[in-house]
Amino acid sequence: MSFENLCDLLKRNNFKLTDQRKSILFTLYENKDSLMSPEDLLVAAKKRCTKLNLSTIYRNIEALLKLDLLYKHIKDNGSTLYKLKLKDSHAHHMICTKCGKTEAVDFCPIEAFKGIIDKKQFQLTEHKLELYGHCKECSDDE
Ligand SMILES: [Zn+2]
Ligand SMILES: [Zn+2]
Repeated sequence: MSFENLCDLLKRNNFKLTDQRKSILFTLYENKDSLMSPEDLLVAAKKRCTKLNLSTIYRNIEALLKLDLLYKHIKDNGSTLYKLKLKDSHAHHMICTKCGKTEAVDFCPIEAFKGIIDKKQFQLTEHKLELYGHCKECSDDE
């Protein structure tokens, strides 16, 4: 998902994109692979919009959580970290171990694990799944 797509998605959810919000979003987007504390987010987002303060950050975190666009990670010491939850931020691949051809699979089986994950009260932040084997061309050679 590009940053523009993310903005469109938010607009469709009646999320008004003020400059403050855009700077927070952009910062989260730039750091979409790492967990950030609200304080980290404030320091980084302030580089784009100096008017920001911690309560703005918290309000926006709440709004993004409601839209299911943020992962919330609670550390042992009770502090919380966040990162964007982008629906297509991951893909699964079929990887040929002979020629190395890699093809994205347009399917994610994570829903099948939902029952187990919920039962264990496990807070899932990400997952990986790659399928290894031989592509059609390589199996034809056998
Ligand atoms: Zn192959
Ligand atoms: Zn997946």
